[in-house]
Order: sequence, then structure tokens, then C-alpha cells
Amino acid sequence: MRRRSGRASWLPLHKIIMVGSGGVGKSALTLQYMYKEFISDYEPTKADSYRTTVTVEGVESSVDILDTAGQEDYAAIRDNYFRSGEGFMCVFSITEYESFSAISDFHEQILRVKGDDTIPMILVGNKADLTSARRVKVEEAEQLAASWNIPYKETSAKTYLNVDEAFFALLEAIHNRKKTMQEAQGTKGKKSKKKKKRCFIL
Ligand code: GDP
Ligand code: MG
Repeated sequence: MRRRSGRASWLPLHKIIMVGSGGVGKSALTLQYMYKEFISDYEPTKADSYRTTVTVEGVESSVDILDTAGQEDYAAIRDNYFRSGEGFMCVFSITEYESFSAISDFHEQILRVKGDDTIPMILVGNKADLTSARRVKVEEAEQLAASWNIPYKETSAKTYLNVDEAFFALLEAIHNRKKTMQEAQGTKGKKSKKKKKRCFIL
């Protein structure tokens, strides 16, 4: 795996994992987001990680994107990847119904590994430019996403449709979740301090 390191290691870091069946466009989406280029023949078996810097809700942040590939068939490797993720981009191709069905398995695996159903996720129907080859209805995908309480976006890594938007929605969800957790911890910290003080007085 290759790692491109960013310039600012002190920035908050958000870790995104790309998941979905082979051939749905995980690499194409990642490369479009990173380099604004459509690369049509990226090595299908390659897992790679990328780092970039973005501003999320006014906060400059580093983003790690792990573009997974076939090795995740080995459950232990896949679980390790998933464990490190803070947000998941669940990608299927609107031209392949099987890839849409497979997303439910990925979703289940993510929830199992993370043990938390509030983990930030986005459902992405890619290859939206191939309208005449559509096999997955927008409504069906929207319904699935709604049942998981996550957003749905249709993208095209080829025409650049909604690529930034999809990454951005996920980054916002990661950022907001961290903020909520930090705030909750802050309140907890204050409470336990108070408690300690009371104990001391007693
Ligand atoms: P991965 O296995 O999920 O990483 O899929 P790839 O990114 O390697 O893409 C698989 C194939 O689909 C490649 O030939 C890509 O050029 C093509 N592809 C990916 N995204 C799109 C898209 O949005 N539109 C079209 N027309 N082709 C795409
Ligand atoms: Mg790939």
C-alpha cells in the first residue's frame, strides 16, 4: 500500500473507507476526488490510501481515504480495515443490481465491526452517467438509505457528478459526530469532577 502523506500532521484527521463490490467505481471516485481526473483502468486488486486536506465546517482537516480492493474477502483483513474507519462510503453501481444487494452485507459487517449504528456512512449509487443501463431505481436506493438513516447520493466518477458532494457529506457527518462525542465527554468530565469534589468534602 502506498501512502501519500499530507503536509499538516497536527490537523484533525478524518478516516474514510471506500467499500463496495469490485468494479463499482470506488477507485475512480477516489481518484476523481483526489486528482480531478477520471482514471478508467485502475488496477482492480489494489488497495491504496490517500491523504488530502480540506476545510470541514470551517476547520482545516486532514482526510485519509482507504480505497479497498479484493483482499477484504479475508474477513480478518477486512475487519482490520473497517476498525480503523471513522466514516464509510458504501458504493454500488446503478447499472448492477447485484452490487446494490451486496451493500447490505457491507453495511452489516461495518456495524458488527464498529459495534455502533451511528457510525457515519453514505450510500452512493455510482455510474449515474450510464442512464440507459440503469438497473437500480432511485427510490429503492433512497428507501434503503432512509432505513439506515444515512444520505443517498448518485454520482458519476466519469462526469464528476456529485463526487465532491458525496465526500463532503460524509466528512461533515464525521466532523459532527466527533464534535458531539467531544461535547458529551466534556459534560461527563465536568460531572465526574463535581462528583470527586463532593466525595472529597464528605
Ligand atoms: P472499483 O473496483 O470499485 O475500484 O472500480 P473501478 O474504479 O476500478 O471502476 C471499474 C470500472 O468502471 C472502470 O472501468 C471504470 O472506468 C468504470 N467506472 C467507474 N466509475 C464510473 C462512472 O461513474 N461512470 C462510468 N461510465 N464508468 C465508471
Ligand atoms: Mg478499485
